[in-house]
Amino acid sequence: MTTYPIDQIRADFPILGETVRNKPLVYLDNAASCQKPQAVIDSIVHVYSHEYANIHRGVHTLSVKATDRFEAAREKVKRFINAGSEKEIIFLRGATEAINLVAQSFGKSQLQAGDEIVISAMEHHANIVPWQMLCQQIGTVLKVAPMNQKGELIFEEFEKLLGDKTKLVAIAHMSNALGTINPVEKIIAAAHAKNIPVLLDGAQATPHMAVDVQALDCDFYVFSGHKLYGPSGTGVLYGKQALLEAMPPYQGGGDMIRTVTFEKTTYAGLPHKFEAGTPAIAEIIGLGAAIDYVSAIGMENIAAYEAELLAYATEQAEQIKGMNIVGQAAEKGGILSFTLDHIHPHDIGTMLDSLGIAIRAGHHCAMPVMDFYGVPATARASFAMYNTREEVDILMQGIKSLIEVFG
Ligand code: PMP
Repeated sequence: MTTYPIDQIRADFPILGETVRNKPLVYLDNAASCQKPQAVIDSIVHVYSHEYANIHRGVHTLSVKATDRFEAAREKVKRFINAGSEKEIIFLRGATEAINLVAQSFGKSQLQAGDEIVISAMEHHANIVPWQMLCQQIGTVLKVAPMNQKGELIFEEFEKLLGDKTKLVAIAHMSNALGTINPVEKIIAAAHAKNIPVLLDGAQATPHMAVDVQALDCDFYVFSGHKLYGPSGTGVLYGKQALLEAMPPYQGGGDMIRTVTFEKTTYAGLPHKFEAGTPAIAEIIGLGAAIDYVSAIGMENIAAYEAELLAYATEQAEQIKGMNIVGQAAEKGGILSFTLDHIHPHDIGTMLDSLGIAIRAGHHCAMPVMDFYGVPATARASFAMYNTREEVDILMQGIKSLIEVFG
């Protein structure tokens, strides 16, 4: 922790110098979206100022340059998650679009009525609704593996759901509502023992830990660029090449074809088969800059720093009477979901905002998790690589003052 360059990191994020309601900004809504380092902002400005054109189409110099930069970002993503080939990296708008792609393309082409898809009780709506839509369309069945009161997957119950009819497991690597890090190695081993492919929703995991898709041996991995310090409108689907090859295109249009006549169209190869239309060119290049940035600091260093921060925040929270932590998994990333006795989470969010503290209050796109705990919403402080103990102190001080006045 002593060698972690926190001052330099904070200086790299211009927005952290902002004031909100005349107070220094304390930004603790990172699970919703992270702030951007200057390197990412500069990268986008540079593209639009000097290197912008549409990609994969023009023979002119700018188009070639933009294409090279775009494809270099693909190579960076490939290295970042240790995929085997750039063909396995599909650029999309976000984790949501990536899961919808798998549901509509893999789901519709490989699954049949009566086949089962197993998810968990702690999923984000993005990893529930696309499967429900598929079930409505083709008659597949959604099975939900339960969790315990701590917000941990009950592994034995999960395993019991894996049967002859199970054709896919789709599960969060890390929960956005609770912070739980799921035992994905065990999950994948159990599913693969029955030849069931596994999709991991890595939207929350990728900003907080090193991910190696080959070591995990997951079949699909999805994440969003904006949570990884990159631009919004960017996301990634990783899929094993053989699976992606066998899947039909998700959308049709320019860039995803080889030949088109009115009678018949043939499709481009991977990864372009799944990238119809003009993508978020400058933003994807910006995602590459974000990956360079976090890689230079080191995902292991970020994970270790955030683990200490979470431990500190948890210890402080446990000492506050009337503050209840929601989600106390043994394996947990930097998320502190909580309620305060007698104060609605939305009021917590509004009142902390008046102190310059940005947290999220709501159902966190995980309504079934709220139902499980019997609460309408929680307040959630979520940490990133640039947060500090001092900010945790400001948060806890703010919470104590709320309890004193309203609790
Ligand atoms: N899964 C999880 C676990 C998430 O936290 C989120 C974003 N809150 C998503 C999926 C969806 O990501 P996006 O909105 O960027 O597509």
